[in-house]
Amino acid sequence: MTRQIEVAQNLAALKSRITRAALSCGRNPEEITLIAVTKTFPLSDIQILYDLGERNFGENRDQEGSAKAPELADDCIWHFQGQIQSNKLKSIASWADVIHSIDDFSHAQKLSALVEKKDIFLQVSLGDGLNRGGIDPESLPGLIDQILALENLKIRGLMSVAPLEIDPDIAFSALAKVRDEVAQIHPEIREISAGMSHDFESAIKSGATHIRVGSQILGVRA
Ligand SMILES: *Cc1c(COP(=O)(O)O)cnc(C)c1O
Repeated sequence: MTRQIEVAQNLAALKSRITRAALSCGRNPEEITLIAVTKTFPLSDIQILYDLGERNFGENRDQEGSAKAPELADDCIWHFQGQIQSNKLKSIASWADVIHSIDDFSHAQKLSALVEKKDIFLQVSLGDGLNRGGIDPESLPGLIDQILALENLKIRGLMSVAPLEIDPDIAFSALAKVRDEVAQIHPEIREISAGMSHDFESAIKSGATHIRVGSQILGVRA
């Protein structure tokens, strides 16, 4: 089997699962953006996905994203979802169209000074002890107020990674509740970036608008 056929089959299987998950909870599958997480995989795989019609790609490391993004066509939308190091923000902002992992005002402030406009998600911690990043939900309203006072950032929504030790249904419904509370005050902050290969169906049930899926499409990472 060629790599093209393998990736095409994985992608088709994933998309039918996305459609089924959406329809089973009365959602329109079209309102769910698939971000193909291409970290550790070569450019040739991204090109295959591009040729299959995918345009949204996710990377976790600046070094990788900054090397890959310029090699692909301009109509790709690049998402950064990794841990942010302050000294990498300028480079990240140069290739990533959307940054999903802002959880700290100093990063937001620095980013706002570097860009004319950038779409961001705020990463929320769902109570894990494993440090997968994110701000505590109690501190989120304060961070939002601080960031809204900056000029150049558009907060599109909330992002989270479900803690390993919590049932993803419970984790993602908690995230949806946090989003609902935020949206009562700030109706424009309404998107949810949640769900990976092993839990995207659960995230879709809880209203995810962006799912970030890697291994289900491209295989196990080395
Ligand atoms: C790697 C990664 C993903 C994709 O994970 P898969 O299990 O390969 O689907 C999604 N989100 C984040 C933050 C990641 O680091």
